[in-house]
Amino acid sequence: MTPLQQLVRPNIWSLAPYSSARDEYSGKEARVFLDANENPYNSPYNRYPDPLQRELKQQISRIKGVPENMIFLGNGSDEAIDLPYRVFCEPGIDNVVAIEPTYGMYHVCADINNVEYRTVLLDDHYQFTAAQLLAATDKHTKLIWLCSPNNPTGNSLNREELIKVVERFQGIVIIDEAYGDFSSQKLMRAELGKYPNLIVLNTFSKAWGLAAIRLGMAFASPDIIALYNKVKYPYNVNELTQKQALEALRDPFEVDKWVKMLLVERSRLMQAFALLPVCQQVFPSDANFFLARMTDAQRIYDYLVDRGIIVRNRTRVQLCGNCLRITVGMKGENNELLAALRSY
Ligand SMILES: *Cc1c(COP(=O)(O)O)cnc(C)c1O
Repeated sequence: MTPLQQLVRPNIWSLAPYSSARDEYSGKEARVFLDANENPYNSPYNRYPDPLQRELKQQISRIKGVPENMIFLGNGSDEAIDLPYRVFCEPGIDNVVAIEPTYGMYHVCADINNVEYRTVLLDDHYQFTAAQLLAATDKHTKLIWLCSPNNPTGNSLNREELIKVVERFQGIVIIDEAYGDFSSQKLMRAELGKYPNLIVLNTFSKAWGLAAIRLGMAFASPDIIALYNKVKYPYNVNELTQKQALEALRDPFEVDKWVKMLLVERSRLMQAFALLPVCQQVFPSDANFFLARMTDAQRIYDYLVDRGIIVRNRTRVQLCGNCLRITVGMKGENNELLAALRSY
């Protein structure tokens, strides 16, 4: 890996970050807080939250098997996706490489940050090779984006190739495992100790059922996490979110139950789709959704909308012509979808 200092933008490397009252004093024993210009009334929300979310990270550390100093928490994965651009990519000069099709936010954040976004098309099985991806890089490539299981295709990417990318690329490799809880494949999160250039993303929005509280995670070396912390907004994860996440973390077995039920429903729904006259192909999935090639995605999408059923029309995405992306819902919801499609 290129030394971190050479990968980071010089202004970020030398940045003196904002130091909040809660940063300067973080001891536990104090009783009287007259340092942050807060209102003393209206407890418990009158105080600024912990800027580094220490208690929450302790619990996440236990469940994810990642040390606390290798965890960043953000306002959704969105923040964990945006910050690497701001830390590593000089606008107008540096570039990033990503697979295509994949999650749209990597491209949007590149555009917002005026960073060139290079794509490498997946093959017919929605797979890639490390060699193809690395061939698209040059000396200005700072980041490689991978998503496994991938959105919108649903499949896990070939693990040997993922490892090759991390081992051979001299810059930062970001692997989004937002759907890792649903996957049968060994997670790259388990490899963090081996690779100082690896960032793995997770979220509370999918298996944890907490999309509304906006909480995303990045796992990486302590040095990379320190850079995230330097650039983030001081109080980027609010107190209500921290509390709600801690509440959920008290009962992680609930999540396991949801995942099990959703996997059973996924396979039932996929099998039923394969038998539908309007469905031409069901693509393999390691996530809580799957991609299906239909006879006429646009017309079927509109038909479903008319019946109050919303799926995601991906027909205009490269390699996804006539494809709908179906999120696995409750049994009753899935049955409504199937009934509607059977009478199309
Ligand atoms: C849904 C999703 C996320 C989650 O984003 P949040 O901002 O955490 O809600 C992240 N990555 C991928 C690939 C997703 O599909």
